Amino acid sequence: MFHTSYIEINKTALQNNLSFLKRITGPGTRFCSVVKGNAYGHGIEHFLPLAEECGVDFFGVHSADEALRADMVKDKKSHLMIMGMIDDNELGWAVEKDISFYVFDFGRLEAAVDAAKNQKKKAQIHLELETGMNRVGFAWEDRNVLVEKIKENRDFLEVMGISTHYAGAESIANYLRIQNQIANYNRYQWFLRKNGVKATLNHTACSAPLISYPHTKMDMVRVGIAQYGYWPSKETHMQYLTSSQSKTMTDCPLRQIIHWKTKIMSLKQVKTGEFIGYGTAFQATDETTIATIPVGYSHGFNRSLSNLGKVLIHGRRVPVIGMVNMNMIIADVSHCPGVQRGDEVVLIGNQEGNRITVSSFSDLTRNVNYETLVRLPRDIPRFIIEDNDSPDP
Ligand SMILES: *Cc1c(COP(=O)(O)O)cnc(C)c1O
Repeated sequence: MFHTSYIEINKTALQNNLSFLKRITGPGTRFCSVVKGNAYGHGIEHFLPLAEECGVDFFGVHSADEALRADMVKDKKSHLMIMGMIDDNELGWAVEKDISFYVFDFGRLEAAVDAAKNQKKKAQIHLELETGMNRVGFAWEDRNVLVEKIKENRDFLEVMGISTHYAGAESIANYLRIQNQIANYNRYQWFLRKNGVKATLNHTACSAPLISYPHTKMDMVRVGIAQYGYWPSKETHMQYLTSSQSKTMTDCPLRQIIHWKTKIMSLKQVKTGEFIGYGTAFQATDETTIATIPVGYSHGFNRSLSNLGKVLIHGRRVPVIGMVNMNMIIADVSHCPGVQRGDEVVLIGNQEGNRITVSSFSDLTRNVNYETLVRLPRDIPRFIIEDNDSPDP
């Protein structure tokens, strides 16, 4: 049965993004592709093997259920790292599968040791340090006990990584806080090392710090949003453009890799003065040709785009009129000559030289790219395409 819409993932654009990101990451630093949130809505099962084809061999997920999905599609050689939730009684599974995981409190540390004992195999862990985000992580005050416990359990633990996460490196408003976090991380990491706790991978940077604070790259970067083709924020983009890094690059190193498409379900004429759709949100001021499009807020088309959104039909940006319904939107196609039932509708992506970006799709809240993407339902079918299948303008 057909779904009401479909998603295309452009491999050429992904290759482009990854080669740019690897260039700014540099040769001495590993690249971890973050595929939490269903690979930011792109679909773990589609995105991960594609990233592997482009040379990625290290993936970060949030939780055990995502790790399970990733593990089913990944290559044997690729490594998986769980950065957030996994139940204590699932740690044995992770150890058995060589999946590394974050340890951010003593409860998890003890559970990791138990799991390793049961599996007769070391648990590969990443110590997460509290440096000022105040979310999860070992506090500076925990340092002596932490060292002691790790030394005690040397036979059961492999400290693969030492990590932290920055509290908003995409905004210059957080500059001082980030600087403090970097200093706190360095101090803590130095203390651990001095006391015999060394990790192969010191890793702190996600997309924004990789671009704005290059000295946070260390042994590995954990890149999410940028590999999918988005700047973490406008500020990060500006910072990149004014940095020396950009001097040697051609314009626009990041390309959105996702396209979201559907087709016109039905066409209709509405008379001047009539209200269109629910309530009185939209009144026709002219004879209007409307196209109903079988995608609504249940499919991730945000209801706040009522009377605001735009879609592409015949290469033109046409307005969404009235309320976004659960399963439908209505577009005004009065100015699209020759429009027909079944014609392609682009919700995100390019059509005949025009484009709708994820940020223009929903430019209402901060970090909206992240949220818009992850809301794309898992059951919309995904297809891999390459540039020559669907050329960019
Ligand atoms: C989400 C996440 C990342 C990736 O962040 P981006 O801003 O998308 O690059 C990296 N590290 C951790 C711990 C995360 O939760």
